[in-house]
Amino acid sequence: MSGRIGVIGAGPGGLTTAMILASKGFKVTMFETNNYVGGRNSSLKVGDSKFDVGPTILMMKFVLDQVFKDAGRDADKYLNVMRLNPMYRLQFGPQKHIDCYDMTQGDKMMAEMQRVFPKDATSYRKYLQYEGDRFRKMIPLLQKPYHGFGSLLNTDTLKALPNISLHTTMHQLLGKYYQDPLAKISFSFQAKYLGMSPYDCPSFFGMIPYVEHAFGCYHVEGGLNQISVAMSKVFKELGGDLQLNKPIKQLILDGKKVKGLITKEGEEHLFDDVVVNADFFHVAEKLIPNAENVLQKWKPSKTAKKRFSCSTFMLYIHLDKVYPELEHNTISFADDYESNIKAISGHLVMPDDFSVYVCNPTKSDSTMSKPGTSGLYCLVPVPNLQKVSDDWNNPDVIELMKQKIYKHLEDRCHLKNIRDHVLEEKVLTPHSWRDEIHVHQGATFSLAHSIFQLLLWRPKNKFDELENLYLTGAGTHPGSGIPTILESGRIVSSLLCDKYGVKYDKERYENF
Ligand SMILES: Cc1cc2nc3c(=O)[nH]c(=O)nc-3n(C[C@H](O)[C@H](O)[C@H](O)COP(=O)(O)OP(=O)(O)OC[C@H]3O[C@@H](n4cnc5c(N)ncnc54)[C@H](O)[C@@H]3O)c2cc1C
Repeated sequence: MSGRIGVIGAGPGGLTTAMILASKGFKVTMFETNNYVGGRNSSLKVGDSKFDVGPTILMMKFVLDQVFKDAGRDADKYLNVMRLNPMYRLQFGPQKHIDCYDMTQGDKMMAEMQRVFPKDATSYRKYLQYEGDRFRKMIPLLQKPYHGFGSLLNTDTLKALPNISLHTTMHQLLGKYYQDPLAKISFSFQAKYLGMSPYDCPSFFGMIPYVEHAFGCYHVEGGLNQISVAMSKVFKELGGDLQLNKPIKQLILDGKKVKGLITKEGEEHLFDDVVVNADFFHVAEKLIPNAENVLQKWKPSKTAKKRFSCSTFMLYIHLDKVYPELEHNTISFADDYESNIKAISGHLVMPDDFSVYVCNPTKSDSTMSKPGTSGLYCLVPVPNLQKVSDDWNNPDVIELMKQKIYKHLEDRCHLKNIRDHVLEEKVLTPHSWRDEIHVHQGATFSLAHSIFQLLLWRPKNKFDELENLYLTGAGTHPGSGIPTILESGRIVSSLLCDKYGVKYDKERYENF
């Protein structure tokens, strides 16, 4: 018989788990502290423009499709997903840029490589071939749980092992293919998707740019937040109980057994199993009673010594005009990218020369703003709150950062006089991520993805320090990023189905 499951948090990981389990006959109750779903993958409004709070680029659409299929649904019936080409523009100073196209666009990417990096153009195909091979060997590792050293000993891991290249970083790997430093940046900046530095991110993450080029980058009509909205709809259609505005205060423990949870108002809810989607490190610190004594490896004092991802300073701008010449996605790099990355990872105060990701969704989606207006989403990676850096409580620091971003947009992205067109704006700082969105240390991409914080060295999907507790989301295996998080939800669903003898043929992604 399937069990009664309580899920804490309606972010993408929690929603995936809740939706699949509900479709398999489990009685699932999901508690969300906000009065909306999605967490980091929700929306916000500034003036008449709608924004994604966090994720804006969907990769590996096939994972999203699979999650809906697992719940007996067709994602295309709920979401209008659009493939973007170019996927993004990479801007190097005001004069130089490359538009990056995926492999469905024939020779367009090759032509761009020849235009911008003529000496490196032929290496592009070699790069795709090598990273494609590596991706096919690595993908099985992201689809299964790791519960101990024994779980590393299987044919999938053994096949992937020679491809892990423990000793090389993503940036070093690119040196094998490209000579131009800007070409290397074009295929390694994606480490920032994990909140990491390409100069110390393990080289097997070189498969992320491959995944973009091979499988494309997508926008969802209305923003990626619609993925969470659609999943909550499916969950409710399947009889799931979604309780919004229900912050959980504490887990109920009987020794090492999790028995249920207590809401902030003091209601007690008993469950056979609890799934945590709220940021695990926030939960370990605030929701597990006496965590310092109850937990071993993941007790708060030990966690404090772990490496966490960077944070982000966000500026959402509602404008009285549209910029049709600005691509949907633009990454505008610092002149000295390496120093900028070191400042972010090294807990220094942000320098004047920094990189900005700008999303202009109105370019492809008229539902994001009223006609004649637009919304620009600007993301600047900044240090997390593990060590003191910029004082985000100081309004002068925030104002200075905002003005630096506007200057960057004017000088480098050619958005002349943008400040004259601002109708409204909203800022999120590392403090907002920590205090309003409950992300530990404001580390927006959670625990860093360094080699000994991956696979069995990450908090496990079936948590091994407490019974009946399961983890899904950015802070657990396989890691941060929408497809990866959806996969963590699939893994938890299959672990719970196994526990109760419920049939769930978790399809593997193969035949690439
Ligand atoms: C700025 C930014 C940009 C990103 N860009 C991309 C991108 O382009 N592409 C991509 O693939 N990924 C991107 N990511 C990464 C990834 O998509 C997010 O990290 C992801 O949305 C996190 O999902 P999650 O399942 O871990 O849950 P979260 O989004 O962290 O959701 C957890 C939920 O738990 C709730 N909660 C917390 N505490 C409690 C409590 N006590 N009781 C009840 N509920 C609680 C929260 O309110 C929240 O709704 C980005 C992330 C950020 C922050």
